[in-house]
Amino acid sequence: MKGRGNTLYEKSLGALGSCLRATKKILPGTILLTFDPTCTIREQTYQTVQVGINQHILADSFFSLLNHSCDPNLIIDTKKGAVYALKNIDSREELNFFYPSTEWDMSSPFVCNCNKPECISYIGGAWWTPVNILASHYLNDHIVYLIKEKIDNASKLDRFRRR
Ligand SMILES: [Zn+2]
Repeated sequence: MKGRGNTLYEKSLGALGSCLRATKKILPGTILLTFDPTCTIREQTYQTVQVGINQHILADSFFSLLNHSCDPNLIIDTKKGAVYALKNIDSREELNFFYPSTEWDMSSPFVCNCNKPECISYIGGAWWTPVNILASHYLNDHIVYLIKEKIDNASKLDRFRRR
């Protein structure tokens, strides 16, 4: 994983411990980090980012400092292996992304205290997040696929018939 353009941010301390902060203003669409999405492992931990179905990458020392927000300022495109600014980011602002946009069922769920009006509280991955909330965020292809698969199963009457 390469920290391309890593003069844009630095390791810092936030409300929840270590984080990454912008060192200058960042414009929407700016690439902050790139990574190799093909270098996958099957084991999921709190330090991995999900890039496909049963596919995870081990986040490097910068990537792993990106915390969750329910009103994120970054997007992770797991197909291209790029982390983009989603909006204008001010200098000293903490960098974060919406964990359910990459994670389906997290190994270490937690309760979010971001205090944003859109806070969803329980962060366990997309499987644990209401579909109406998910639809208001950018989601990676594998998450969209897994949601569709779950919804498809809901129309299979055999699953609900009593024997
Ligand atoms: Zn939140």
